Amino acid sequence: MTVPPIDPPPRLLMGPGPINADPRVLRAMSAPLVGQFDPVMTTYMNQVMELYRGVFRTTNEHTLLVDGTARAGIEAALVSLVEPGDRVLVPVFGRFGHLLTEIAERCGAEVHTIEVPWGEVFTPEQVEAAVVAVRPALVAVVQGDTSTTMCQPLADLGEICRRHDVLLYCDATASLGGNAFETDGWGIDLVTAGLQKCLGGPSGSAPTTISPRALAVIDARRHVEAGIRDSVDVAREGSGTPIRSNYLDLAQIMDYWGPRRLNHHTEATSMLYAAHECARLLVEEGLDEAVARHDLHGRAMLAGVQGLGLRVFGDVAHKMTNVVAVEIPAGVDGDGVRTRLLEDHDIEIGTSFGPLHGRVWRIGTMGFNARRAPVLTTLAALEQVLRGAGAEVTAGGGVGAALEVYA
Ligand SMILES: *Cc1c(COP(=O)(O)O)cnc(C)c1O
Repeated sequence: MTVPPIDPPPRLLMGPGPINADPRVLRAMSAPLVGQFDPVMTTYMNQVMELYRGVFRTTNEHTLLVDGTARAGIEAALVSLVEPGDRVLVPVFGRFGHLLTEIAERCGAEVHTIEVPWGEVFTPEQVEAAVVAVRPALVAVVQGDTSTTMCQPLADLGEICRRHDVLLYCDATASLGGNAFETDGWGIDLVTAGLQKCLGGPSGSAPTTISPRALAVIDARRHVEAGIRDSVDVAREGSGTPIRSNYLDLAQIMDYWGPRRLNHHTEATSMLYAAHECARLLVEEGLDEAVARHDLHGRAMLAGVQGLGLRVFGDVAHKMTNVVAVEIPAGVDGDGVRTRLLEDHDIEIGTSFGPLHGRVWRIGTMGFNARRAPVLTTLAALEQVLRGAGAEVTAGGGVGAALEVYA
């Protein structure tokens, strides 16, 4: 059997993620491998911790990578924090809130949810009322839910959780690096992310930061693996129930990243190089500058689709900077348009889930693609494809409106 080498077409990925990785990230990934305890590697690991403290805006010592896609980070957070029987409150405003609910249930939690219609976000009062009613051990919330494009304001939630002595976990996968995020400033106890959205890398690594409050909970559940008992201080075992995952046990992962370097998994070396370069580029650009860049190109894309005469779904005042949900005009075959964009223009845009399935396309402007050329190219192609699909569009209206934003 002969199999041809991998030779994918050069797609422009303008969906809700994954996006095209920055070429500098791909170059970093092709660097030679070193052993996991090589001083070169441990130096890179320490740099990753420091760089991501900058990205997360935190002084948390335990800022590290969980190996796996963003979902591995979510699962590590919840399986490490949630003891069977704990009450967990999940404010659900889109698909990823349902994911948090499901994972927390699998951890044995008694999960309570509150919901707003897709396209809206919660007020702090709504969350506080639920915290008072449910008295959870943990609130788990998404910041940017790409399924609806909404960005949940978090600034008040940390303060509410502290006041009621509740831990706050946030999935910032889709928003971090392109929307303001303040781990310490907002009082968020544990945050996880992924590389393939605003951080400009491929999927496969989950940057994670753990506050001292979350650490105390995880420490109490510390359990030492039998095979390494002789080489570690068993007295550090906690009195809580052991974390019900070995691979995603944040206590062990912290010991691997910490000064003791206790062997756990083998750090995914090439993904660490990618995560290192993603954060290095962001810190070099400046976090505020990166958020402003996503805001600019997101506004250009928003103006562009509106300039074509298309309608946008959801409360635009609470839209994430980096993705827009565009209503599919009546009579237009949504999947047909996506196919023509892909086959004729090498451009990918997103479909949608749940209540929005078949109703909207999702178009992203994030990471390496939060730039002028991908925005204008996508709008120009979309105009042609829509016209071909029989939709009424304003000639030149997309690119023209975007250029006005840039002017
Ligand atoms: C994209 C996204 C994820 C993705 O998880 P993966 O495991 O990397 O596919 C998780 N949470 C949110 C909010 C997302 O938008």
